[in-house]
Amino acid sequence: MEAVICKSTGSWYTARADAGTVWQCRIRGKFRADEAITSTNPVAVGDVVELEPEDAARHTAMITRIMPRKNYMVRSSPHRPSRHVIAANLDQALLVASLRTPRTSQGFIDRFLVTAAAYHIPAILVFNKSDLHRRQEEERYAFWKALYEAIGYTVLGTAAVSGEGVDPLRELLSGKITLFSGHSGVGKSTLINLLIPGSQLRTQSVSGWSGKGMHTTTFAEMFPLPEPGGGAIIDTPGIRELGVVDMEKAELSHYFLEMQPYIGKCRFNNCLHIDEPGCAVRDAVEKGAVSAERYESYLTILDSLETPEW
Ligand code: GDP
Ligand code: ZN
Repeated sequence: MEAVICKSTGSWYTARADAGTVWQCRIRGKFRADEAITSTNPVAVGDVVELEPEDAARHTAMITRIMPRKNYMVRSSPHRPSRHVIAANLDQALLVASLRTPRTSQGFIDRFLVTAAAYHIPAILVFNKSDLHRRQEEERYAFWKALYEAIGYTVLGTAAVSGEGVDPLRELLSGKITLFSGHSGVGKSTLINLLIPGSQLRTQSVSGWSGKGMHTTTFAEMFPLPEPGGGAIIDTPGIRELGVVDMEKAELSHYFLEMQPYIGKCRFNNCLHIDEPGCAVRDAVEKGAVSAERYESYLTILDSLETPEW
């Protein structure tokens, strides 16, 4: 029987089979050994698996096989050398950001976009809390919307409190598996609760909670979207940020999609686009064809990548 992993606690997995039946599953012991993907958790949310029912009445089963992944996203952090697979088989990744309470930085947005691009996963930016925008935030929103749409990203403004923008958001998600990411407090849970009545994710009180122990779950969870469109949302509570994957410094500019046309035109083919002579990327920045703010993000992320030791 084939099923999709919806939740993982590390040792137990919840899987949903085609007919909508839900199974509590474990991994067959010998299975872990031949797991090819480096991960603390060999089975990830979104994985399509083969189940062998153990106790049909109690809906428990053994996972006997993971089907090949179309793609996956990992969380990698300097403190956690093993790469933890957050979710697999994604159609798109969506960042919920806000311009006020809290204000999402461009660096944070760009790291998210780099990670998505590194996995070839289309990315969507949703700016929530548009009801709180003053003139300053309106200008910033217009700036980012124009900037990211010109690169090819989908950008949407929403206000979960009034429902503004939620219908277009629903359309973007319909029939797709979408990973939701975002800083705590941006309204991700409120949006998901609107999109999936009955998901009842815990939201923070308006008065503001200290945050300690609030998001104790750090595991992703998949919620099916209502019919007719179908699809699903994968929530990532407690995951503050999708880390930029370990990549070579030379790779990074490829994930700034608007830089791609210039990369091959630099004088040196190992150009990192910092201060090398004849750099076509820097030239494009100076001419305004690549935004100076994006280039700043590029330099910051580049600086954070490890230099290989010789
Ligand atoms: P999460 O941490 O991203 O899941 O954020 P929550 O969904 O828990 O929301 C954090 C706080 O922001 C809560 O107090 C929400 O009521 C509030 N909130 C969510 N969406 C909006 C919005 O569109 N506008 C305003 N003004 N507040 C919002
Ligand atoms: Zn260059």
